[in-house]
Parts: sequence; structure tokens; C-alpha cells
Amino acid sequence: MTETLTRLPTLVPPPVELPERAAALRADVRAFLAEERAAGAWYPRADVWLSGWDERFSKELAERGWLGMTIPTEYGGHGASPLDRYVVTEELLAAGAPVAAHWVADRQIGPSLMRFGTEEQRQKYLPRIAAGECYFGIGMSEPDSGSDLASVRTRAERVDGGWELTGTKVWTSGAHHAHAFFALARSAPRDDANRHAGLSQFIVELNSPGVQIRPIPLLTGAHHFNEVVFDKVFVPDSMVLGEIGAGWHQVTSELAFERSGPERFLSTYPLLQALVGEIVSSELDAEGPLAGPSIDTAGPLAGPSIDAGRRRDLGGLVSRLWTLRRMSLAVAGSLESGHAPELAAAVVKDLGTRYENEVIDAARLLVAIPPDPGAEHGFARLLADAVLHAPGFTLRGGTNEVLRGIVARGMGLR
Ligand SMILES: Cc1cc2nc3c(=O)[nH]c(=O)nc-3n(C[C@H](O)[C@H](O)[C@H](O)COP(=O)(O)OP(=O)(O)OC[C@H]3O[C@@H](n4cnc5c(N)ncnc54)[C@H](O)[C@@H]3O)c2cc1C
Repeated sequence: MTETLTRLPTLVPPPVELPERAAALRADVRAFLAEERAAGAWYPRADVWLSGWDERFSKELAERGWLGMTIPTEYGGHGASPLDRYVVTEELLAAGAPVAAHWVADRQIGPSLMRFGTEEQRQKYLPRIAAGECYFGIGMSEPDSGSDLASVRTRAERVDGGWELTGTKVWTSGAHHAHAFFALARSAPRDDANRHAGLSQFIVELNSPGVQIRPIPLLTGAHHFNEVVFDKVFVPDSMVLGEIGAGWHQVTSELAFERSGPERFLSTYPLLQALVGEIVSSELDAEGPLAGPSIDTAGPLAGPSIDAGRRRDLGGLVSRLWTLRRMSLAVAGSLESGHAPELAAAVVKDLGTRYENEVIDAARLLVAIPPDPGAEHGFARLLADAVLHAPGFTLRGGTNEVLRGIVARGMGLR
């Protein structure tokens, strides 16, 4: 057994320490968020990177240099490292700030354009992404192709000066607001011996003739998802991303950026924070104002006033959060050194998204406050949003079952 374990590849890259400058950056972001909250600009929400679409907020971040951070300065970015970006994004998510508008463009479109885009494409999109003026979606999934992405049926046919796309994309988050998305399409007939060949990526402007965007409402009635139908949509040669036929390789390297970030374990962090607040205030109420330590001096988890069972449950959640963060940071460090650690990213996403659901379970079990989707803010609203969004945590970005298959294959176990 020990011998087998020592032969297995390392799952997670070496640990990474944040550079010293990170503390000052973190303090700046926190000060800005505190100002926004004091001005009543928004309330903390769960799963903000999916549902908190607020273009004003995105532009405020851009003005402070917190969008397109890793994009080189010649393309309007800030030439910062993925670790600097990590600090900013974890603070935004922990605060439950409305980051959905720029999320996809900032997280994966910028890096993909730097990696595979032409000079023209970089000049066209990167400065606008860094300015918070250009938002992107992801056009991968189709009605019969989710986990098995190689089976996409959207066709790209060669025409004079470009390609003509016909087919349907589905579950496209934010397509009704976004300016463009990367569409994965079959540009050559399917070859059963090599299913990953013949796929290509195209940059499709979502206001192009022949693009129809149809809403798919959530159970709450909110409009987040869409079906995007292409009817002979013309995409010029200049908007082919990377190489024709290399779509599979490009998409899978994009997924390393998509799967490993702090959004894969912090979607329910604002709920965890509200839970701690509810527990502390209920226990202080029960003991009376003079009993127990002050929250200000002792911190919410430090005082003896929380009962042992609840303290153990909260402590378990907080310590796992810390481990997940270390793993996710290690992946960010590996991305910084130019690697695309798909295997480690899959591990972070599997463990992190299960953790997000466990925060909800704890919130339901440890305090007796029912969820309230109609509340403007506070624990009951956070719980309601988290419960309603939870089914998507382990599905989006590749389902956990499929990720475990990737991990097993990568470790030589399959
Ligand atoms: C909130 C949310 C946002 C999304 N946003 C986008 C977006 O913006 N753009 C986009 O392109 N897509 C988006 N998606 C789609 C998402 O990527 C797909 O839902 C996901 O890849 C799964 O595909 P599917 O829904 O077709 O399920 P299926 O692939 O049909 O899977 C159904 C079930 O079968 C299991 N299964 C399938 N294959 C295997 C296997 N080989 N081994 C074991 N189990 C397997 C799965 O785990 C799952 O439980 C989003 C999804 C969600 C929930």
C-alpha cells in the first residue's frame, strides 16, 4: 500500500506563500469594500460570482486597477501576478460583493486571449476587459453535450472569409448581458477514433445577425441562464481563437483557470460568516449582556460563550476552509509559473464545492432561522439564496463525478 502511494503523482502543486505586498493590497480592497457597504451600495449575497451582476461595481473595481490585473500593461492591464489577483478575488467573494458581470472575462477570457489570441483580438478585447467595459460568457455546453464536451454538435462550416456557425448552446450564464463568448464548435466531421480532433473555438459577438438568446428562468424566476441559438452566424477568420482543430486542447487548458479559484469554495462564505454572527448573538442573548467575552476583543470563535458542539462544527468548517484555500493558492502559484495544473484544479473543485454545500447543511442545523428569499439581506436571505443555488455548485465547470474520473486517470488508477 505504502509503495503504491509513493508511486502516485503529486496531486497538488507545492504550497505557496503570498508575497509581502499582499497585505497592503488586501487592506486596500477591504477599505474599499467597507466604504461601499457603508454607502449601502449592495448587501452581501451568496454565490455572487454567478448572480451578482452589477456593472457599476465592476467599473469601480476597474478604476482601482482590480480588473485585468494579470493582463500586461501594453493591453491595458496591470501586469500583476495571479497571486495578487487571488488576494483581490478572495476578498470580493468573502464580502459577498456583486462580481458576476466581469467574472468570466477577468478569470479566463483574458488569460486565454493572452495564450491563444491574435494581436488583433488582444487589442480589441483586453483593454475593455480591464476597464470593466466588456463582459464575456462561456459557450461550451449544449443540450446533449455537457460532461461529454467532445460530442458538441454546433457546426462550423467554412465560407468565404470565415466560418458559419449553426447549433445550440445551453446553460449560458449571463449571455443576455454579455458582449461576446467563446463558442466551441465542430469544424471537421467527427472521427470516432479521435473524438477530440476537429473542434475549434470562435469568438462570437452576441449581437451578431443569426444569434438568438432565449432565457431559461431559475426556479425563483430570476434570469441567469440562457439558450443561445446560432442560425448560420458568420464569424470572420479574424475571430477564430487559436488554431482550427485545436479547440479541445485550448478548452481544457482554460478549465484549469475555471476550476481552481476561490469561487469554488467561497460561494457560501458570506453565509458561514452570518452563521457565526447568529450563533454568537444568540448565545450572548441567552447569557445576558454581562456574561462571556466581548465579540470585539475575543473574536467570534474565541470566547467560551459558544457551546462545545456548535464550536466544534464551526471549527471543523473553518479549518477545512483554510486547507482548501492552501490548495487553491498552490494551483494559483502553479498557474503563475506557466503551468496548467488540470488535475489539481479538479481536486480543488471537487472538495471545494462539496464544502460549499456543507456550509449550508450547518446553517440549517445550527440555528433555527428559516430561509427567506424575500428578505432584503441578512442570514435568512443568504440561506435562501444558498439553498436555491446549491444544486449548481457541483455541476458547473464540470460535474464532480467527471472530475473524479479525471483525477483517477491522472493518477494512473483508471
Ligand atoms: C450554475 C451553472 C452555470 C453554468 N454555466 C455555464 C456556462 O456559462 N456555459 C456553459 O457552457 N455551460 C454552463 N453550465 C453547464 C455545465 O457546464 C454543465 O451542466 C455540466 O458540464 C454538466 O453537463 P450536463 O448538465 O449536460 O449533465 P450531464 O453531462 O448530462 O450529466 C448528468 C449526470 O451524469 C453524470 N455523468 C456524466 N458523465 C459521467 C461520467 N463519465 N462518469 C460519471 N458520471 C457521469 C454527471 O456527473 C451528472 O451527475 C452551467 C451549469 C450550471 C449548473
